[in-house]
Amino acid sequence: MILYQRGALVCLFTVSFLLFFFPTDENFVCFTKHEPIGVCGAIIPWNLPLLMFIWKIAPALACGNTVVIKPAEQTPLTALHVGALIKEAGFPPGVVNIVPGFGPTAGAAVASHMTVDKVAFTGSTEVGQLIKEAAGRSNLKRVTLELGGKNPCIVFADSDLQLAVEEIQKGAFFNQGQACTAASRVYVQEQVYDEFVRLSVERAKNIVVGDPMDPRTSHGPQIDQRQFEKILELVSSGKEEGAKLEVGGCALKDRGLFIQPTVFSDVKDHMRIAKEEIFGPVQCIMKFKTQEEAIDRANSSEYGLTAAVFTRNVDRALSVSAALQSGTVWVNCYNALHAQAPFGGYKMSGNGRELGEYALAEYTEVKAITIKLTEQLRLI
Ligand code: NAP
Ligand code: MG
Repeated sequence: MILYQRGALVCLFTVSFLLFFFPTDENFVCFTKHEPIGVCGAIIPWNLPLLMFIWKIAPALACGNTVVIKPAEQTPLTALHVGALIKEAGFPPGVVNIVPGFGPTAGAAVASHMTVDKVAFTGSTEVGQLIKEAAGRSNLKRVTLELGGKNPCIVFADSDLQLAVEEIQKGAFFNQGQACTAASRVYVQEQVYDEFVRLSVERAKNIVVGDPMDPRTSHGPQIDQRQFEKILELVSSGKEEGAKLEVGGCALKDRGLFIQPTVFSDVKDHMRIAKEEIFGPVQCIMKFKTQEEAIDRANSSEYGLTAAVFTRNVDRALSVSAALQSGTVWVNCYNALHAQAPFGGYKMSGNGRELGEYALAEYTEVKAITIKLTEQLRLI
């Protein structure tokens, strides 16, 4: 049973929406009003359970909507704890509703409910497709999707190589690789390829793996057995398809779900590890010759979430950024997310944008009001 209170927040935010006036043909006054959509559903994954919760509810509430949010089965307690804080902060009942449960039941109910007016989803592309289908079959609710990526990084010979190695590896291994932004396809120009591989291997070997509650560690376990097995199966496929395993590649013995930070070199674009979202600590390094080739190969993916370019040449940074089919491009940095900047994907990485002003547009309906000015009205 989904509980919600339509418009509870609308009453709280009576003056939150600006009016924009437009020039029109004579005798008309035209303006737009941005209104709350109503009840916004949200379905979130387990990899960043607090951040995803906030990315969904903050713009929804700021625009005067109410929320029904389903956390992932692996991480319901984070959401319920935030729920307790929301209650303590004094939100009116019905404004934020948390429905822990499984995807095919609780999640599907949110996506297909006739009085949920919008659904925002983060997770796999496969489930994102089901969400759009459910919206289409029910009430054509507005849908925004954030569906992961296979994010290319292009390292040019003129880059600060040490910086590139560090930033890209932080991107590859952040959260044990369980991130939609994971730096998972690294294209390195041939002149600096060997050195880049050498430095990456050295750095990966120095990562301290262990209890994530211990501040001396930076690499913990994977989320669950299913993900653990999926990652190791993809690592095996990399070896079988001929990529060179430089470091890692297996689980830590007798340590549960820990996987060593793994670096493959000599990866080819047709290999599964170069095409599929691994969602684990696996870095795939490839070699390229020319800028055109790097752009073509970076763009030859069904995904288009994030990308990175490493170069000291500003012209190159700008022209490559323009050519990449990606919602975010980082230059000489990685995972540099800002609450003010829009985040979202091209192609099968999703629809719509989160964060910043662009996110607000996803949580409002726009109404155009046109008034014909008559003599009578003018006199009043
Ligand atoms: P998932 O199945 O897409 O789960 C994301 C959310 O969708 C969870 O809350 C899930 O519920 C829910 N869900 C599942 N089936 C649904 C349905 N039929 N209708 C409505 N909601 C549904 O992702 P996962 O199984 O956790 O991970 C699988 C893969 O997805 C990963 O290996 C990774 O490649 C990708 N992934 C991407 C992101 C990202 O940030 N883009 C995040 C997580 C995973 P449950 O609680 O039942 O799972
Ligand atoms: Mg799942």
